Amino acid sequence: MKFPPPSDGLFKSIVEGSFDAIMVLDSDGVVAYWNEAAERIFGYTHSDLDGQSIIDKMVPPEHGGVSANALRQFIGEPVSAPGWHHLEFEAHRADGEMMWIDVRVCRMTDGSQERIVLVSRDVDETKRRNLELKLAATTDFLSGISNRREFQRVLESNMVENICLAILDVDHFKSINDQFGHAVGDQAIRTVAESLVQFFPDALCVARLGGEEFGVIIEADEGAAVTHRFDRYRRQFGNTFDYNIASKFTVSIGLAFNQNESFNVRDLLTGADHALYESKKNGRNQVTIAKRTNPGDNQ
Ligand code: GH3
Ligand code: MG
Ligand code: MG
Repeated sequence: MKFPPPSDGLFKSIVEGSFDAIMVLDSDGVVAYWNEAAERIFGYTHSDLDGQSIIDKMVPPEHGGVSANALRQFIGEPVSAPGWHHLEFEAHRADGEMMWIDVRVCRMTDGSQERIVLVSRDVDETKRRNLELKLAATTDFLSGISNRREFQRVLESNMVENICLAILDVDHFKSINDQFGHAVGDQAIRTVAESLVQFFPDALCVARLGGEEFGVIIEADEGAAVTHRFDRYRRQFGNTFDYNIASKFTVSIGLAFNQNESFNVRDLLTGADHALYESKKNGRNQVTIAKRTNPGDNQ
C-alpha cells in the first residue's frame, strides 16, 4: 500500500513523537532543529544549544574516540559518501555525564540548504552491560588480570609474531595456605599478579592461568635479554611480598619461544609447560627454556 506524502504537520508530529533524538544541523554543525527526545536524552535546553556547534558540546576534542572523530569529520567535510552512516560513541550530556549513543547521520539538501540529520539513541545501559560482560569473560575474578581464556586468545592472535611465552608457578604455595590460611594465600596471589603487571608493562598479556600459576606473553626474540628479564623477576620475587613470612618465597618459570611460524599454540604451551616442569624437578626457583622441538612434534 502506498501512502501519500505526509504533510508538514504530520511529519512534525512523527518527529516529535519519536523516542530517538532527532537533530538537524546546518553545514557548520550548528543545531537548527531538535526534537523533544533530543532534549530529554542529552539534557540541553534551547539556550544551551542556540547558535552552538553540537559536536563541540557532545564530543569535545579531548574526548574524541574514533567514532566521535568520524562524526566531527563527517560534519566538517562536505564531500562525504551519500546515505546514512552508523556510529557509536560516548557523548557528553548537559549534566557532564558520559553516555553511549548510537548515531545515524546523513547529509541532505533542503531546498538550497545543506543539512546534516542526526538520529541518536541512548544505548548506554546495554553498552555498559556488554562491556562489563566482556570484561568478566576475560578477567580473573580474584586478581583482576586476564584469565586463561583471554591468555589463549592473545596467544592465538599473536602467533605470527616473535613471542616469548612464560609460565610461572609459585613454589610450595600450599605451605602459605597451610600456615597462614586461605585469605593470606588469596592476597599473595593478588600480589604476584600486580608484581607481574608492574614488571612486564610491555607484555601482550599477563594472566592468571589457575591456582597460583601465571602466564606472560611478551614480544621478544629468543635470546639472553628476555631470559635475563625473567631471571631478574625470579630473583626479586621474594621482595614482592610485604609480609615477612613470604620473604622465602620463590617462583619457577618455564619459557618457550615462537620463532618458527609453523609452531602452533599447542607446541608453544606444551614447551613452556615442560620447561616449567624441568624448573620444578631441578630444585625450583629457576628459569628453564623449552628445548627446541620440530614443529608438530607434540601432536
Ligand atoms: P610446587 O612447588 O610444586 O608448585 O608446590 P605448590 O604447593 O605450589 O603446589 P601446586 O602448585 O601444585 O598447588 C598450588 C596450590 O595453590 C594448591 C592450592 O592449595 C592453592 N591454591 C590454588 N588456587 C588457590 C586460590 O585461589 N587461593 C588460595 N589461597 N590458594 C589456592
Ligand atoms: Mg606451585
Ligand atoms: Mg600450581
